[in-house]
Amino acid sequence: MDERLLKATLSLPFCVCNIMTWLLLFGAAIHLISLYYVRKLSNELPIGVNRKSWHLLGVLILFFIAGYLGFYLMKRGTHYSKPEMLVPLIFFFGAIFVLMVCFLAYRTTKELKRVVMLEHETLTDPLLGIFNRRCLDRRLHDEVLRSNRHNLSFSLLLIDVDYFKKVNDTWGHQIGDLVLRHLVEILEGTVRQTDIIARFGGEEFVILLPHTQETEAYKLAERLRRNVEHTPLMITVGEKLEELRITVSIGCSCLTTDDTPYDMLERADRALYQAKQTGRNKVVRCEGHETGCS
Ligand code: GH3
Ligand code: MG
Ligand code: MG
Repeated sequence: MDERLLKATLSLPFCVCNIMTWLLLFGAAIHLISLYYVRKLSNELPIGVNRKSWHLLGVLILFFIAGYLGFYLMKRGTHYSKPEMLVPLIFFFGAIFVLMVCFLAYRTTKELKRVVMLEHETLTDPLLGIFNRRCLDRRLHDEVLRSNRHNLSFSLLLIDVDYFKKVNDTWGHQIGDLVLRHLVEILEGTVRQTDIIARFGGEEFVILLPHTQETEAYKLAERLRRNVEHTPLMITVGEKLEELRITVSIGCSCLTTDDTPYDMLERADRALYQAKQTGRNKVVRCEGHETGCS
């Protein structure tokens, strides 16, 4: 019995030595797994400072692995003093900490990307890639509040393609979709970056023009109308290249005191209706613009 106890006591330092060795080797292995997540995470990021910083962290982890292996080689086969035993322990739990940080950062990045994508999908039109009606309602509400509070000018254009049903009937729905994309390109190429283009529904679009007075909005609408009229869409029919021309009618309204978003849309709609009634391919301002609008 005494002999067995003596044997066990004598083999204890070797046992401790083995545990320390395993802690060091596991620590290095855990760091390798962290490197895998660092790599995956940096691939998720766009080229820039953040991505470079994660690359730098990857290099630091490599240094750590070298440190673990260096310490292991230095202590291989020798006994660990009590303070020395702390080193593999700290290394091991440090490796677990680094792995958790890298793993959670990777998961969080993926989750954020998913949320941003969902948000993007709920706010944009899948066919045209511009804001949809839901987003328009929000932005219009915000802009009206902001402009009323700070006494800023704000205008709105309601655009409708003329005889679009005929385009679909003549050329088919797919060409109709191409026409809508073509129109959006012209709109985007004509307005300022701060203006907001949204699909109101079908072949109707709204453009919000913050900090824009009625006269400027009218001039912009005229420019839009002319650009659409003079920029045909080239389509191939059989072997032939054909020009497909469309025109738009535009109703224009501007913010007056105590207006609600609904009031602005309503006036633009009435103006648009008038444009349709009086021949199409026209811009009409809301009635009362001479007095009410700034
Ligand atoms: P008006 O000059 O009075 O505006 O005549 P219109 O033919 O443009 O007006 P109407 O509202 O009768 O027709 C709109 C058409 O737009 C009907 C619908 O089939 C078509 N349309 C709506 N959304 C889309 C779409 O996403 N793609 C295609 N290709 N057509 C669409
Ligand atoms: Mg139409
Ligand atoms: Mg319409």
